[in-house]
Amino acid sequence: MSDTAAPHPVVAVRAALDAAARSAGRDPADITLVAVSKTFPAEAVCAAHAAGQRHFGENYVQEGCAKIDALGNLDGAVWHFIGPLQSNKSRMVAERFDWVHSVDRESIARRLSEQRPAGKLPLRVCIQVNVSGEASKSGIEPDEVLPLAQAVAALPRLELRGLMAIPAPADDAAKQRVPFAALRHLRDQLASQGIHLPDLSMGMSADYPAAVEEGATLVRIGSAIFGARQARLAATSGSEAPA
Ligand SMILES: *Cc1c(COP(=O)(O)O)cnc(C)c1O
Repeated sequence: MSDTAAPHPVVAVRAALDAAARSAGRDPADITLVAVSKTFPAEAVCAAHAAGQRHFGENYVQEGCAKIDALGNLDGAVWHFIGPLQSNKSRMVAERFDWVHSVDRESIARRLSEQRPAGKLPLRVCIQVNVSGEASKSGIEPDEVLPLAQAVAALPRLELRGLMAIPAPADDAAKQRVPFAALRHLRDQLASQGIHLPDLSMGMSADYPAAVEEGATLVRIGSAIFGARQARLAATSGSEAPA
């Protein structure tokens, strides 16, 4: 039996991301690949980790926390919470994750800051913005970002790092770039108000080259790395998905 391991798909995705960075005239080292492991079991995270991947993204609080707890000492792993966050689950996130990309209101930011354990570094956060109008349900409106950014920046146990968006899907790169450019402009406007944010969390499997063109520093890629997602319950039950 031949046992030659094929390279993990994350290796090809990282290479494609590096190529996208270079063709945009950017340094690949300035772009963090967040492998979105939602609905995939801890073993899938381990396999990507063994291939060199370190940043992982999770959307669902319980599923993500269970995975982090199960994988406790995965060397150098950095965990990003990227999904909608309810107040009653903020503590679980504050205690385990390194990043939250989906801060969309001051009340949740306050809770995360208060609940961040003293022994950990401040929680790195992005503010999620609705940059493509009615199509996307999450995130605050662009004209509400400045006061929220000022409030978040003042919280002692959070480190405000940037802005995040999940634009409505678009079928070609020119259309994909419009909301990504809008997020970048918003970041630049904040800089002129004295709030300097290094990060833009934008781009997924279907649109990351366009996001990289517009300055993404954190790209969140799931299916291109782990494959198509099964129904959530089947994938989180711990049993093997059907072949
Ligand atoms: C699922 C998800 C992703 C990854 O999406 P793919 O299309 O599988 O790459 C990225 N960001 C968020 C917020 C997600 O929920």
